[in-house]
Formats: sequence, C-alpha cells, structure tokens
Amino acid sequence: MSNRLLPDPLPRCRRHGRMRLRPPGTREQEFCGVWYRCAAPECAATVLVASAGLRAQLAAQSQACEAGR
Ligand SMILES: [Zn+2]
Repeated sequence: MSNRLLPDPLPRCRRHGRMRLRPPGTREQEFCGVWYRCAAPECAATVLVASAGLRAQLAAQSQACEAGR
C-alpha cells in the first residue's frame, strides 16, 4: 500500500459528500499530489490535495518572487 500521507479529514463534495481517490495518470500528476473525485457519476467535482513536494516547490517559488522585489 501507499505510505503517502492522506489528508484528514478527507475532502468532501459540497453537494454529494463522499469523494473517491483518483489514481494519478502521469508522473507529473503523481508529483502534484492526490486527486479526489466526487463519487456521484454525474458530478465533476474534483479536489487536489497538494503533495509535500509540490508545496515545497510553490513555497520556494514565492520566496524567490519576494526576494526579487
Ligand atoms: Zn458531487
């Protein structure tokens, strides 16, 4: 099983509640984090829970922006 840290509480669709884990399609998607999709088939709601790697990259970028001011 995956040892990735899962969010707690799990994300929920505002209208339908329960969401399902969606397996990543590409390495890039896997790097970005974990996608959840609403369990209702007619609903297109998705939630991205950013991975530690993505958050670190975004933090480094915003620090670089502020340093450039
Ligand atoms: Zn939904």
